[in-house]
Amino acid sequence: MRSLAYVRPADVAAAVRAIGAEPDAKFLGGGTNLVDLMREGIERPATVIDVTALPLDEVEELRGGGVRIGATVRNARLAAHPLVRTRYPVLSQALLSGASAQLRNMATVGGNLLQRTRCPYFYDGAAACNRREPGSGCAAIGGLSRDHAVLGVSDACIATHPSDMCVALAALDAVVEVESVRGVRRVPLTGFHRLPGDTPHHETDLAGDELVTAVELPPAPVTSRYRKVRDRASYAFALVSVATALEVEDGVVTGVRLALGGVAPKPWRASAAERLLLGAPATAESYRRAAEAELEPAVGRPDNAFKIELARRTIVATLRELTP
Ligand code: SF4
Repeated sequence: MRSLAYVRPADVAAAVRAIGAEPDAKFLGGGTNLVDLMREGIERPATVIDVTALPLDEVEELRGGGVRIGATVRNARLAAHPLVRTRYPVLSQALLSGASAQLRNMATVGGNLLQRTRCPYFYDGAAACNRREPGSGCAAIGGLSRDHAVLGVSDACIATHPSDMCVALAALDAVVEVESVRGVRRVPLTGFHRLPGDTPHHETDLAGDELVTAVELPPAPVTSRYRKVRDRASYAFALVSVATALEVEDGVVTGVRLALGGVAPKPWRASAAERLLLGAPATAESYRRAAEAELEPAVGRPDNAFKIELARRTIVATLRELTP
């Protein structure tokens, strides 16, 4: 048995001071991922800093039409919030497609951003895993890789990012606010998570002493949608997911945002597809061409090559659903 210290600061300044003074500490929100990782011995914090008493649990409308979401807002509450349900259906749908009702009741927005991969080898202490133990190798390459990534992978890691919420946030151009004793920093969601490269254990742009305090959404798109393809109807991670917002005038695409989940080590903004779609006729043919361009650099393995065509088809189907 290992002993650890537990602290529960009442304000953000005390929380960031606490982690600045204890480099081996971890912030604890709902605990739906961190506690599992601690049980498996993957995370071994000397101190846990419980952030659930911090005043970060509000969803507020911003002047100018955006929305600010506190980092400790629970996933279930965010999905049900009227501002989110009515203006950002893509986010509400993504949240409701993730995990189980019990987990959504506990999980926080900040924790969802920072959850770690569900690659089974990452959780298996007997397997080689560069993400868990840098330099040890990757058991998924040449092993079972059905759930693994086809875009943005490296020779060091092919894990997928597990979050649904983050895929919607990537499509919505969300910005993450982080704070430390050095001050406040704002990071675009699309730059918050890192691709594995040679250092898959460096998963985000967050420094060890920084706390996620909020996520801000710009004004809502006209219409948006999240579609998730998975092995069963609930409590399953995405094989492929698509978050999109689409605007069409006189049969032509005048605005589009597209992000993919289940196919890459980070929420994947589909910029190549977006470039082709802007100004194109809002037809299944245009959508298919854009999907093919986005998936062109994909690298499939015997177990997961099916994801490439599945992603193309899911992009087309989701865009068609939003087409007036
Ligand atoms: Fe580890 Fe990544 Fe390989 Fe999975 S895919 S075993 S997380 S290095």
